Order: sequence, then structure tokens, then C-alpha cells
Amino acid sequence: MNENPAFGADLEPFMGIPSFMRLPVTRELESVDVAVVGVPFDSGTSYRSGTRFGPRKIRELSLMLWGHNPTMNITPLKKLSVVDYGDVSVIPTSIELTMTAIMKTAGEILDSNTTPITLGGDHSITLPLLRAHAKKYGPLSLVHIDAHLDTWEEEFEGVPYSHGTPFRHALQEGLIRKGEYVQIGIRGPVDNEKDYEDAEKLGARIINIHEVFEKGIPEILKEVHQRMKGPVYVSIDIDSADPAFAPGTGTPEAGGLTSYQLLQLVRGMHGLNLSGFDLVEVSPPYDHGDITAVLAANIVFEYLSLLALQK
Ligand code: MN
Ligand code: MN
Repeated sequence: MNENPAFGADLEPFMGIPSFMRLPVTRELESVDVAVVGVPFDSGTSYRSGTRFGPRKIRELSLMLWGHNPTMNITPLKKLSVVDYGDVSVIPTSIELTMTAIMKTAGEILDSNTTPITLGGDHSITLPLLRAHAKKYGPLSLVHIDAHLDTWEEEFEGVPYSHGTPFRHALQEGLIRKGEYVQIGIRGPVDNEKDYEDAEKLGARIINIHEVFEKGIPEILKEVHQRMKGPVYVSIDIDSADPAFAPGTGTPEAGGLTSYQLLQLVRGMHGLNLSGFDLVEVSPPYDHGDITAVLAANIVFEYLSLLALQK
């Protein structure tokens, strides 16, 4: 597949041009199973920005993935045809225009019966992604792994869209199936108790970090499998991991998941009807030694392995 020596599979990770896992960069999707697409947009952030550099950095670290997944005993690229679709043409100064561009690009991929894997970008990008997926599949079951609720009404007066509001809109727009929205890893101080009540009223089952640590990942996964009946969309905010494991993010919260627990959560989704995925909030300027980007690349690889098992 990689005939071009610039992309050659024989290259070491530090050599050559870093497309995702050194896959061909193309918009030709005939008989392609999965398209990895970047959304280098961070104008929806409220604290530290920098996630516009996320997709490129995750691609760079994806060159360390080699190919075989020993934990799941699968070599995903042997089962799936995967390409790097490049990035959505975001407009850094306009969240609305960027949302339109994301809808369009995700729509192109989905219309070709290809499954997109989206690399963010801040969490505001998930709303247009959910819109595009719901347009194809109807209302979705949603697994949302995050330190934050992201169901706020507005973070800034009168501004509806930011990385703290996507799931409120998604719920209000009917993009998510009733009772099939699970938030995992939520923690940290909020304005007041109403934030949690609000999210629950909107339809979220909040599994906060305390519950995760009390019950353990297998119990949490059991509930996920029980609840999810429709096409499942998985949205992972890297700040669900503890800042010790993922310092490179915009709004770090103490006391989160280990990188292993996060990978275990993803692996445990085997058997769900996996239909959409994004990984967001990787901010390389705040990273150290690429710790966060390595974790991000591995999360994507675990998900890719699940898609290979599903095929
Ligand atoms: Mn978050
Ligand atoms: Mn988030």
C-alpha cells in the first residue's frame, strides 16, 4: 500500500512524513473502512488553548504504534483499510463556520460508508460530529469520558457554543437516545450543585470518578453495555486522565484515571455497536515529553483494534 518511499513502511518512527500510522493521505474513500481526520481547532477553549496542535502531534506519536495489538491479539491494519483523510479546514476565528466545515467533512466520510476517527481539537468539535453521525444513524447512544460535564448552558454570556456546552446542545437537539448517555470520570469543583442536577435532568447518567474508583472499570463497563442499545458514539476528552498521565491539556483536573484505566475502558467497549469516535483536548504546548500524545495515539489504536474486531 505504501509504495511511495516518502511514506515507506520500513522507515523508523523519527523518519519521513508523519501521516497517521504512516497511512496514505487521501480523500479517495472507495472501499476504505476507516478515515482518520484531524480537527485542529481550539477557539472553543475557556482556559489554556493549544489543541489546534493536537492532531499533528498525535499523528507524530502514532508512528510508535507499530501495528500489532498484543492485548487484543489483532493487527488492525490487516483487517481494515484505513487512510489519513487530512484535516478539516477550520476557521480559527469562527466557531460557527468551523462547525459547518466539520459537518461537511464528517458527512463526506460517512456518506462513503467509511467510519471516521476524529482527532481534536477542543471538545466543541463534538457537537457537529454528533450532528453528522445522527444524520446518518439517527439518535445515538453516547459514551462520554471526561473530567467535565460539558453540559453547561453557556460558558460566556450569550455565547452558545464552546468546549463546555456540546452535550447540552446534543441532548436538546435529540441527537442522543433517552437513557443512553453515560458520562465517565467526572470530577473537580464546579460553580454549584446545580451543574450536576442540570446534567442529570438533561438525561446524563453521571459516573463520577469516585464511583469509578469504588466499583472498578469492569463494573462500569457492565453498566455501559447494559445501557447502550443504539449505534454507539464514543467521545473521549483526554483530561479524563489524571494530569500526571495527561498534562498536555487545556483544563486539567486532579485525581483522574490512569492511562491504563483509560485504555481498559476503551478495550472494554468490545461488543458495542461502535459507530463514531473522537479524541479531544490534547494540547501539545502544555505536554511534557509527549506523555499526553503517546496516550492519545494508543487510545486511538485501541479503538481501531475494536473496529477491526467488529468487522
Ligand atoms: Mn474536560
Ligand atoms: Mn470535555
